[in-house]
Amino acid sequence: MAASLLGRRGQSVLVVEKGNFGGTCVNFGCVPSIFLHDLTLLLSRGKEQDRHFGIVRDQKTANYVERVMELRGRLSEAGEELVRSSGADIMKGEATIQNDFVVIGGVRVGYERLILASGSTPDLSLKKEEAVYNEDQLAELDSVPETMIVVGGGYAGVEISQFYAKLGSRVTLLTEGEVVGNLGSRLSHLVREALSWDGVEVKEHVHVSAVKAKEVLTNLGSFKAQIVLLAAGRKPNLPSGINVLGVQLSPKGVIVDNHMRTSNPRVWAAGDIISKDFHRNAHSAMAEAIVASSNIVGRDLAVSYDAIPDLIYTDPEIGVVGDSKTVETWAEFPFRANTRAIISGFTEGYVKIGFDSFGRVVYGEAVGQWIEEFLNLLSILVKFRVKKEDLSNLTLLHPSLGESIISAVRSLSNEDVERPLRRI
Ligand SMILES: Cc1cc2nc3c(=O)[nH]c(=O)nc-3n(C[C@H](O)[C@H](O)[C@H](O)COP(=O)(O)OP(=O)(O)OC[C@H]3O[C@@H](n4cnc5c(N)ncnc54)[C@H](O)[C@@H]3O)c2cc1C
Repeated sequence: MAASLLGRRGQSVLVVEKGNFGGTCVNFGCVPSIFLHDLTLLLSRGKEQDRHFGIVRDQKTANYVERVMELRGRLSEAGEELVRSSGADIMKGEATIQNDFVVIGGVRVGYERLILASGSTPDLSLKKEEAVYNEDQLAELDSVPETMIVVGGGYAGVEISQFYAKLGSRVTLLTEGEVVGNLGSRLSHLVREALSWDGVEVKEHVHVSAVKAKEVLTNLGSFKAQIVLLAAGRKPNLPSGINVLGVQLSPKGVIVDNHMRTSNPRVWAAGDIISKDFHRNAHSAMAEAIVASSNIVGRDLAVSYDAIPDLIYTDPEIGVVGDSKTVETWAEFPFRANTRAIISGFTEGYVKIGFDSFGRVVYGEAVGQWIEEFLNLLSILVKFRVKKEDLSNLTLLHPSLGESIISAVRSLSNEDVERPLRRI
């Protein structure tokens, strides 16, 4: 992203990439996991939907590994082409840092300014044997194991556990705290219920002491399975020699301000490599790359994290945006009372909107299926602090899921015309 933007602005840019273009998102993260999300949703909801629409057909199967590989190859090529067409140069290989040079396969390249965007890798400090899988190897599991242990109850751990449970594995999820604990106990409970519904055995507050190929040792004893997969956090991918740059580091990564400046005036950083607690996702990495590549050529942009959405691709999907701490008034509407949801049969879930003391939207939350675009809509409301009265005067498509936002707001003043449907 940063390279193609700078290339298009006529800057002389070199991108160094040791793997495939597209990084974690395309090759190991978003693409394989959302593919599995959609696939398992279709498989598990297939029967329900078939009944809903009156369709009769044979059992479905899917050759998903081949399809994931094909997809990520296509998207990675598209990413590389985007960089090339911007006029930026590309060198394939691992970049290390030596004094004022970046070294790639023995070739020293000087630079005026540097953007560090080498991402993160799974934290494997618990791993004792090579055959243990990690969250970046999702696309390498070419068959569905009979039994599986997933270590880590963050976003990746809960998504992977549910995918494989839906595909037929007996999955045990072991996690130190509560599943997706950073989202608070209400949403954590919701995720726990959804996983249990699909047959995942969820063990929380477990202390894992060692992870072997087919066994995990914990304070609750030993757990055995055909495959063990680690999703227990990530660490920054710091290029070798980074210390010569003198940039400030924390255990979580490179320390930057909101302008993506490091403590070295010639060095910027963006994405998973930076030290941050939240928003380790592809869209934040892109926002940070845009800011870094603009500021490096003299602009003064800052990343504002207040309206960046987060979505967990579980079934149901769970999305949040904004800060609930300043909420004074809540508006909520269940999808089972929304006409579009009733027509499609996907009635599980709700939308929740939080207003501050000035009646402005500061928080949005949605639970349900296919809620990505819905959450994008909520992000716009949060970003522009849209006022309650403006929202209740808004007309949106009918029937559509987005209408639930207006229904939620109108229900605050008893103007909710869809109210009778709540009984459905
Ligand atoms: C299982 C999983 C699911 C995910 N799902 C989602 C999702 O649905 N939505 C979402 O927004 N985010 C998701 N993420 C997170 C998302 O993938 C990352 O936040 C995002 O990729 C970070 O982008 P980045 O550019 O900082 O790093 P990366 O995408 O990791 O890119 C860094 C690149 O730098 C290269 N590199 C590293 N070191 C060097 C070096 N020394 N020399 C040369 N090249 C180097 C790497 O090969 C890599 O290509 C998921 C992550 C995982 C693991």
